[in-house]
Amino acid sequence: MEFNKKITCSLAQRGIGIENAGHVKVCNLSTHIFKDANGDPYRIDQTNLRDIWNNNVTRKEINDSLDKGERHENCQLCWDAVLINSAIALAKKPILMATSFKNAVIAGRQSFLAGRMKKSFNASASSPESGLI
Ligand code: SF4
Repeated sequence: MEFNKKITCSLAQRGIGIENAGHVKVCNLSTHIFKDANGDPYRIDQTNLRDIWNNNVTRKEINDSLDKGERHENCQLCWDAVLINSAIALAKKPILMATSFKNAVIAGRQSFLAGRMKKSFNASASSPESGLI
């Protein structure tokens, strides 16, 4: 999704998030963890915080995208949450809209649990043929 305006996020500019395993990210909603020049993930218990802070490749990428009004894949969760929040908050009937999102999530999960039919290249009748007038 692309927008035609500059977007700023204070966490993208100055934030640091820590995962349970000690990996470091720009914020706790980020999907990308910071890595060193060898591609190894930084761990807060093994790396000097200044070294982590000065590794701004991921941070720069994210901020460059935001400056261009583009959605960086690192921020997918956050943007989805903002869009859903706006859809609910700005709806004419917010509670009804929130309920519809809830029902959509339940429907998706139920259809996943129900399982898909097997692939078939031939059509076959699935309606009962007995007991009809
Ligand atoms: S995920 Fe959200 S809060 Fe985190 S850096 Fe991206 S836009 Fe900012």
